[in-house]
Amino acid sequence: MRSILHFDADAFFASVEQAADRRLRGRAIVVGGLHRGIVASASYEARAFGVYTPMPVAKARKLCPHLIVVPPRFELYEQFSDHIFGMAGEVAPIVEKQGVDEGYLDLTGTRQCLRKDPEEVAQKLRANVKDWLKVTISQGLSRNKLLSQIVSKLYKPDGLTVIPPCEDRELAFLHPLPVKWLPGVGPAGARLMQSAGLTRIGQVADMPMDWLSELMGSSARQLRDFARNIDNRPVVADRPEALSYGHQETFDEDTADAVFVDAKLRALADHAFVRLRADAKQARTVSVKIRYTDMDEHQGQSSLAEPTDVEQDMYPLLSKLLKRLWDRRVRLRMVQVTLSNVYNGYRQMDLFGVKQRQRDLALTCEAIRDRHGRKALMRAHDWVLIAGR
Ligand SMILES: [Mg+2]
Repeated sequence: MRSILHFDADAFFASVEQAADRRLRGRAIVVGGLHRGIVASASYEARAFGVYTPMPVAKARKLCPHLIVVPPRFELYEQFSDHIFGMAGEVAPIVEKQGVDEGYLDLTGTRQCLRKDPEEVAQKLRANVKDWLKVTISQGLSRNKLLSQIVSKLYKPDGLTVIPPCEDRELAFLHPLPVKWLPGVGPAGARLMQSAGLTRIGQVADMPMDWLSELMGSSARQLRDFARNIDNRPVVADRPEALSYGHQETFDEDTADAVFVDAKLRALADHAFVRLRADAKQARTVSVKIRYTDMDEHQGQSSLAEPTDVEQDMYPLLSKLLKRLWDRRVRLRMVQVTLSNVYNGYRQMDLFGVKQRQRDLALTCEAIRDRHGRKALMRAHDWVLIAGR
């Protein structure tokens, strides 16, 4: 019988700001956008006034006149994240990062190994984080990832919710929930399902496969399995920083063509962003590794001011990194692009909807390529790659 814990920090950015500056503790604060005011995170004191994420800061100020607005400090959040995952690694050997402020722990067998119940181990972690970092986390414990993740987010803040390993009780919990709680169902997916009359997870469980495939495409099988509480996904025992989206390519022939390599980096980033968006995540940091003909390797990384899920934002960083790293006049054999510092649910400040249009365009391109093959639609750098060969 597996025992899987999911944890999710409460109002993470705002809590970290309050932890870092005691003058902000107990106050209504929001972490607001870098350029234009959208609320990225609101303290529970601010939420009491009806402030939520995402909301324009101007509106939040009307609801709560004494609101304190602080600009985001992503590096600080990433440091707190490292501390939280360090503490998680102290109580359990298997920790999987799901974003800066959430992750899974496999607590199977703690009774035998540590003479502690999984509940005790979970409580210990929550207490450690609260005592040392002054940040609270919410936790869900069950026998699979699906249920643990849902309960940790459903019952907030600062608590542990356990779903006992009993099929009837698990389904009684799962089936009445709205479909948006199924992993992989974004807002668009939820609207699509609702338009077809599917509002509760229990209804998805009962749908014939061909009907559901018609509606949801290739994700239908996975969705119905989740709806039926079938989830054998393991907690992956990698180091926490393993949450990253990386792609690499070894060239057929070693190359000295900088335009070609730059195009290749962009194409690799495109692949990584398809996966990132499929997981509904955003990333702030990109790393590039190059390997020379003689196997010497250079690598470096660069970060945006705020996380993104649009590949165009990263292209300039890739070009700069390549110029900086490729400082020997030697041909390259392999390049690698990796996205890290991964966030969940971060909304970029987007007053004019430019980001949303770029995102919609990227999604439409993906859909066309899914249906008609990668060559059906190419970006300029894809063309460089084909022409360059
Ligand atoms: Mg959170």
